[in-house]
Amino acid sequence: MLAGQSEAIEASGKYFSPRNAERPARKTTEFIILHTTEAPSASAVRKLSQNGEAHYMVDAEGRVYRLIDKDRVAFHAGRSMWNGKTDIDNYSVAIEVCGYHNKTINGAQISSIKELVAALQKIYNVPDDRVLPHSMVAYGAPNRWFKRSHRGRKRCGMQFATPSVRQSLGLTSQPGYDPDVRAGRLIAADPHLASTLFGGKVQSSGATVDPKRAVAVLPKERPTVEEPDDNIISSGRSAWDVARDKYNSAGTTYVLPDGSKIKGNAVKDWNGIPVGTKVVMAEGECDEDDAFYREIGPDGDSPFEVAGDDWNSKTTIYFMPNGRIVFGNQINPEDVRKISAKTRVLVGYEYGGRITAKQSAFILCGKKWNFPTTVYLKPDGSMIQGSSMRERSIPLNTLVYYRK
Ligand SMILES: [Zn+2]
Repeated sequence: MLAGQSEAIEASGKYFSPRNAERPARKTTEFIILHTTEAPSASAVRKLSQNGEAHYMVDAEGRVYRLIDKDRVAFHAGRSMWNGKTDIDNYSVAIEVCGYHNKTINGAQISSIKELVAALQKIYNVPDDRVLPHSMVAYGAPNRWFKRSHRGRKRCGMQFATPSVRQSLGLTSQPGYDPDVRAGRLIAADPHLASTLFGGKVQSSGATVDPKRAVAVLPKERPTVEEPDDNIISSGRSAWDVARDKYNSAGTTYVLPDGSKIKGNAVKDWNGIPVGTKVVMAEGECDEDDAFYREIGPDGDSPFEVAGDDWNSKTTIYFMPNGRIVFGNQINPEDVRKISAKTRVLVGYEYGGRITAKQSAFILCGKKWNFPTTVYLKPDGSMIQGSSMRERSIPLNTLVYYRK
């Protein structure tokens, strides 16, 4: 019966991922997650295949490629939550659509996506209101811009929430509000995104969005919060508003009004970026958080800026340059400013154990040993995500951390 169902999905195996065999099977499938690659087909499909970052990809001509077995886990949603459930990778099938979150998906793509979504819905019994854009489930840990965990880390696939696109995909229902914002688990950090996803008027942007007034729910009428499309920093528009989780990435360039340029990872004073600065972002696939750890900067940076309100949480872990490891709840408020530059910080993690001769990564982590959410601190001080680890190459005394 399963074989018969698989045949309903026509897809090329040309870019089948070399990572497929190492991915565990999902126990349940509750969601279909739609992404936009934010890059042209050719480069997107290579990277998605290499890293096993989606089950299917639909290219610009509407061709469908199978990348990871639909029953296995693909790493596509990153830090994610829906209705209190986290790590959506473990509960979802992912379709990457070659295109951009702010551009139209073409007709050939729409008909392929429609067919693919319908087949997957049938196989896994997924209702229309659980076919969601990545941006609807992605969230960010507290950072310098938003002191609390927040929706709006990405805009990936946001057009798949607009009624006209859903209609063309044959989807008749969708969420009318953000359950995690409504429950106070998250705040809404991107009003433009929130209004695209759920409609309604939302407070304009800023670093302090009150969760109680974050999302107004008007599922039928959907006026969108307009915003300029020129990627220029203004008094009401911060680096985060423009670049979101790529704000401090090496691939993001700030072109100052005087013409000088600075890379996101070299910016020291975020408040000092002048109005009129243009933000140029590298073309990149919709991908995992590219910096899984944060770093205390050289000048006046503090745990408050790096980890927001979670600076003193036991799930915020500080890795000092001298090798000391301290949990947020062990830090006295008066010592906060003494945390030295170059301290690496994991936000929303817990300690999993130490690798020993008797205690392998697999024993410590089970199937998640090679997940991107699992972080290894090697004895040489380097920090590596599980997705780039090979089990035989993990040295003894490596420490393991899980995303909580
Ligand atoms: Zn995505």
